[in-house]
Amino acid sequence: MTGKRLFGTNGVRGITGADMTPTLALSIGLALGSMRIGSIAVGRDTRTSGPALCSAVKAGLLATGCDVTDCGILPTPALQYLVKEHFDAGAMITASHNPPEYNGVKVIEPDGTEMGDEETIRLEAKILDERVPLSPWNATGREVHASHLVREYTDAVVKKFPAGIGDGITVAVDPGCGAACATTPEILTRLGCRVVTLNSQMDGTFPGRLPEPSPEGLRPLGNLVRSTGAALGIAHDGDADRAVFLDENGEFIEENQEFGLIANQVCRDRKGTVVMPVSTSRLVEEIARRNGCDVQYTPVGSIYVARAMRALEAAHKPVAFGGEGNGGLIYPDHQYCRDGGMTAAMMIAILAREQSTVSDLVAALPTFHLIKEKIRGADPSAMIRNLCTAFAGDHLDRTDGIRINRKESWALIRPSGTEPLVRVIVESPDQKIAQAFFDEIMKKIDPS
Ligand code: MG
Repeated sequence: MTGKRLFGTNGVRGITGADMTPTLALSIGLALGSMRIGSIAVGRDTRTSGPALCSAVKAGLLATGCDVTDCGILPTPALQYLVKEHFDAGAMITASHNPPEYNGVKVIEPDGTEMGDEETIRLEAKILDERVPLSPWNATGREVHASHLVREYTDAVVKKFPAGIGDGITVAVDPGCGAACATTPEILTRLGCRVVTLNSQMDGTFPGRLPEPSPEGLRPLGNLVRSTGAALGIAHDGDADRAVFLDENGEFIEENQEFGLIANQVCRDRKGTVVMPVSTSRLVEEIARRNGCDVQYTPVGSIYVARAMRALEAAHKPVAFGGEGNGGLIYPDHQYCRDGGMTAAMMIAILAREQSTVSDLVAALPTFHLIKEKIRGADPSAMIRNLCTAFAGDHLDRTDGIRINRKESWALIRPSGTEPLVRVIVESPDQKIAQAFFDEIMKKIDPS
């Protein structure tokens, strides 16, 4: 996003010892401490570099006079929940779904959302300025350890559902040796499920699979689903703000279908706007409208979804649901951030309500054909400009890149933030229409 130099859409990330160092973590702690004087919660995922980086962030916070509560290893949404309930800000040491050598910091605002662009630019200026005022000896912060606080988060999720809702349901859970080891098996057990697990020991070397819950990495979970007769397989990314699912046959459920399935459940009980990025399948819009909800599109990035949902709430407009088509879903009656533990519990509620298999529920969703491509070109913004001219007669949405909306199809073309290429997504219920539209874009894009 324009103006940010260190932070991406979800905090600072980099390779440990190269771009992500204790020195940078200390600067982040100092900068955050000087901006949000008060009581700050810190937490981390299971990465091996977590203790060193977390200690450095804490040193900065304490030196600027903030009191620090170290919540230990817990999911990002658990820390976000605790910050919303008790603290003036938070810092989560995590690289989410990135490989083990990465780590980073996500900064959490008092309302539990990730820090937005404007405040992040202010924070970066302080990090780069390096002249943060330090507290004298008698005004430095105090540190307490409170790894028991994570229980407040699991309690909050469990309380959203009727007691015993998971009775008779076997689920196979793969937290990927990440932060959800501490929470999701417990949540599901307390809902009444019989829980079998894989990769449920915390281990920052990630010996079972990479933190990204990909279909390939989840093959052993598929085997566990089949061998135990589980109704469902559940997996998380490293910090468990996302959850993905396997059906009772161990087959991966594409994340837009997951979004649609859960939107169908949530929107039956809660009316209002469903908020999602422009990259989301039209499946979700169709399901929202079927349930009497409307939709709002945002730029790509969960923080834009969360902030748009907060803005609707502030304007006293009903907000039903939100999320991204990557398993990161946001429940406004719980908190305004992606929550993998809540999403896991919600799937149990769907199974209990529908009395149907997961594969049948997925098969009942409307079908859409999606084409995704990366197109290389020296000047991505010129490619976007060409398309704006070429498709001027269509209905264009410029929320993020260019989205071309047609009755039977849509396309999104966005420049990459880091490489000389544009990403193209085309979708239609009809495969031939999707292919023809994609070919039309290729002709007009001029990748010169
Ligand atoms: Mg994540």
